[in-house]
Amino acid sequence: MKIIILGAPGAGKGTQAKMIAEKYQIPHVSTGDIFKANIKNGTELGMEAKKYMDQGALVPDELTVKILLDRVAKPDCENGYVLDGFPRTIPQAEVLDSTLSEMGDAIDVAINVDVPDENIVKRMGGRRACLSCGATYHIEHIPPRKEGICDVCGQPLVLRDDDKPKTVSNRLKVYHEQTQPLIDFYHAKGVLRTVDGTADMQDVFAAITAILG
Ligand code: ADP
Ligand code: AMP
Repeated sequence: MKIIILGAPGAGKGTQAKMIAEKYQIPHVSTGDIFKANIKNGTELGMEAKKYMDQGALVPDELTVKILLDRVAKPDCENGYVLDGFPRTIPQAEVLDSTLSEMGDAIDVAINVDVPDENIVKRMGGRRACLSCGATYHIEHIPPRKEGICDVCGQPLVLRDDDKPKTVSNRLKVYHEQTQPLIDFYHAKGVLRTVDGTADMQDVFAAITAILG
């Protein structure tokens, strides 16, 4: 099963993608996480990506597409995957589409996690991330057991640079300009399904599993 999770930054894509990956036993592929891991490890790719990420801008398509196609070519992706944060532009979606169709394949479903901008701003300010293992929390909705400490690995939690208020408003602008058109793109392909992302995370997940079966 090849699944795309669409939605604004902070809509809960990562939260849902992790749950889908576990239930359906497919890899969770997040371009954002790949970039962040590269930043953490000080790679050349990480340094290049950081220039854009810190401003709330998108990493250029050419670089992002290469990273994604390399990742989904790995053996663990043979039986499918859940893509979180990719594609984010029409050119990215077109490359993915043509790469899959050359193999006689296609995306099965694109799930749009719908959350209005007002909710997004609140969520991102409250998001705390573990830079060590990638787990995310929310100070009100999904708090860690011990304040400021990751439940999974015990490392300190941080407010990501790109979750700071000015960057968030830029990321939302970029989302509306460049990513939202993907909703029409996948609708036209007949694979778009929308869920209400303002609901409790378990209820959002129930709506998604009802779609995926
Ligand atoms: P994205 O991957 O779309 O950027 P995340 O999954 O990281 O979004 O979620 C953004 C923030 O909102 C996180 O702090 C997360 O814990 C919180 N969150 C996720 N889903 C919900 C939900 N259904 N209701 C409330 N908060 C949520
Ligand atoms: P995320 O964790 O998905 O919110 O991604 C964090 C940041 O990584 C984004 O704000 C972008 O700068 C960059 N990024 C992640 N995925 C993509 C993508 N598909 N295209 C371009 N930039 C991306």
